[in-house]
Amino acid sequence: MNELNWNDGMSVGVDAIDQDHKQLLKLINEINTAINNGSTELIIKDIFRQLEHYVKQHFTREEALLQQCNYPDYEEHKLQHQQFINKIPELRERLLSAETIEVAQEVSLFLLNWIMNHIVVDDMSYAKLVHEQGLTTNDRSTPSWSERIKAWVGRQIKLDNRIYLGMIIPLFGLLVLSASVVTFSYQYYQNAKQVIEVTGLLNAANKLSHTLQIERGLTTATIGSNFERFSSELLASRVVTDKALSNYRERVMQIRTGSVADRVSQQLADTDIALAELNQQRGLVNSKTSHISNTQQYYTQSIKELISVLDGLLSLGHNADLTRNTLSLSALVNMKEVAGLKRAIGAWILSGQSIDSKLLKDFYLLQGSRSGLLTLFMNSATIEQKNKWQKVLSSSVYRQAVALETQLERSIASQAELTIDSEHWFEVMTGKINAKNAFIEQLILDNEQNVQKELNSIQFVFVVITSLLLVLVFFSTVISWLLGHSIIYPIHLMTHAMKCLSEGQRDKRFTLEFADDQMREMFASYEVNRRKLLQADIISAIRFERQAMSIKQQEIDKKRLNELASIDPLTGAINRRKFQDVAYQELERARRCQQQFSILMLDIDYFKKVNDTYGHACGDEVLKVFCQTCMSQVREYDCVARIGGEEFAILLPQSDKKGAILLAERLRLSIEKTIVDYHGHQISITVSIGVAMWQEQTQDVQELLEQADKAVYQAKNLGRNQVRLFNDSPDKDVSLEH
Ligand code: GH3
Ligand code: MG
Ligand code: MG
Repeated sequence: MNELNWNDGMSVGVDAIDQDHKQLLKLINEINTAINNGSTELIIKDIFRQLEHYVKQHFTREEALLQQCNYPDYEEHKLQHQQFINKIPELRERLLSAETIEVAQEVSLFLLNWIMNHIVVDDMSYAKLVHEQGLTTNDRSTPSWSERIKAWVGRQIKLDNRIYLGMIIPLFGLLVLSASVVTFSYQYYQNAKQVIEVTGLLNAANKLSHTLQIERGLTTATIGSNFERFSSELLASRVVTDKALSNYRERVMQIRTGSVADRVSQQLADTDIALAELNQQRGLVNSKTSHISNTQQYYTQSIKELISVLDGLLSLGHNADLTRNTLSLSALVNMKEVAGLKRAIGAWILSGQSIDSKLLKDFYLLQGSRSGLLTLFMNSATIEQKNKWQKVLSSSVYRQAVALETQLERSIASQAELTIDSEHWFEVMTGKINAKNAFIEQLILDNEQNVQKELNSIQFVFVVITSLLLVLVFFSTVISWLLGHSIIYPIHLMTHAMKCLSEGQRDKRFTLEFADDQMREMFASYEVNRRKLLQADIISAIRFERQAMSIKQQEIDKKRLNELASIDPLTGAINRRKFQDVAYQELERARRCQQQFSILMLDIDYFKKVNDTYGHACGDEVLKVFCQTCMSQVREYDCVARIGGEEFAILLPQSDKKGAILLAERLRLSIEKTIVDYHGHQISITVSIGVAMWQEQTQDVQELLEQADKAVYQAKNLGRNQVRLFNDSPDKDVSLEH
């Protein structure tokens, strides 16, 4: 038997335990060698003594370690240890008392099996726990942080879930990103939509402010002319204002519910309050009880409120271009108001009212604010707007107004007489304001178109981005799922196949194809292992088959030897012992089945004479011929045995008294007629035959043989060469009976 050598794969991770296992292996190998070398009892006893000592020492150490790491099957393991300790003396005694090498080798094989099971099966089950609790002593390397994290993740999350998480987390990130982009685009889109919604209001507010400016100018001029002039124009302008006001209110009602209204709610409220007073102010004017500065202030305040609504709405612009655009628009609206105020003050002065210092101050302040607003416009307007503005400036209406303004300013500055007709002034200034208003309305329209354009592009971008993201998310999901599944599926297959392999199934083969990667290597390694195990299975099966054949052969040989031992070599008949066995079986059968059987006892007459006359060899020849003659006369299942020197017995199954006597007589006659030719000598013999019948009261085979023997004795006494049936009353002549 080969030695079992230590392999590092048997290590449980603790040096002391590994050393014990090596020592135990060494001792068991020594026992094996001692058996093979046929060593003395003393040597074997000494090795067993060492084995017992080490086993106890090792178990104590191992049990302490198991307790330390709270091994769940501690008690069971301890019990196994104790069982083995108890077994050692028994094995030693069995080995020492072994009569054959096979028995000795059985002991050796048991020990080798035990140590392999102990190390590879029992102890490996706690090696993992020892490692997990950091109790290993031969693993010197400290794992890095990343290794620890990987190990932790591996312990906490199942492989399938890890792969799915690896797929879901980026997808989740993508979804969050997509949702943010879509939300942001949607808000942007909503904002732009709101701007479009408010543009109508913007226009209405601008128109109202414009009509209020005209009304203010005409009111001022009417009061300034002591109600002698401008009355009809004033009435007409009030109608226009009312129309613009109702349009404005309608627009305000429309957007009141939207979020835009919230952002200019204060301005809208202030404007509502101011406009509510309009009719009251008009009444004061009509009843000539108004004071010019109060009236002027009312209109100016109302227009200011409207302009603040305009500014508020314009500030909703949401990109740089639109902001610039709205800034320039705001500057123009305010400039128009300045022009309106100027028109009103001018109309007041020119209608013959005294020039007080406050009015003059206001007049010059308007000049200042106009240049400030103009700078703001020039800084924020686009080149295109500036060009259009230049056209407005160079228009005859505008230039005429500027000339008239200059003339008025100079007259006021030189305190010269004012020659400008107030109606002419009003008309020219209104022309200028109208030109500005037309320009503003154009800008509002441009603004609206720009916003609409932007809205369309946002809408387009929104749809494109959303569609792209949806497509991206869909494909990412599908691809992630496919990739994940392409990992999980083969791993499941491999796990199942490995499990089958460990359970002895070798039929799992794979036709899966992989890239040149770890998966391919894994499946290739599996296939190599599968084939090796298959090969090992076949080899082991052949070995078992050979062993079985050898055992069978041994059994055949043994049987043959037994048969040879039970056959008489001279005659080929079975011997006395075998005959007794066969007769015993027949007796049992007869008892069981209530069947009859008989025994014939044959003794050659005066055989000694043959020996004495022709020699022993001739006697042997006669014995052979005698036996052959008997065999040729009996039935196939009758059994001829040589139970003494020249004494034979024949067992006749299922044979009654009559049949047995008939056969005996036939045999006797046959022998009588037989002539043995020995070297020219013609030898004839006779035989005396005793017949015994099985009866229910027959005790055993021996009794039956004795009965047959007695019958032979009778035959001899009655003169030989005859058949006698055993009879309790010897006087009765059975030969006469049939
Ligand atoms: P009886 O008629 O009374 O049976 O006389 P017997 O001579 O046959 O009987 P006995 O018992 O006196 O002699 C048997 C002889 O058989 C004695 C012995 O030498 C001889 N014999 C026994 N076995 C063998 C054998 O195997 N070969 C030969 N040749 N002779 C044998
Ligand atoms: Mg005899
Ligand atoms: Mg004889």
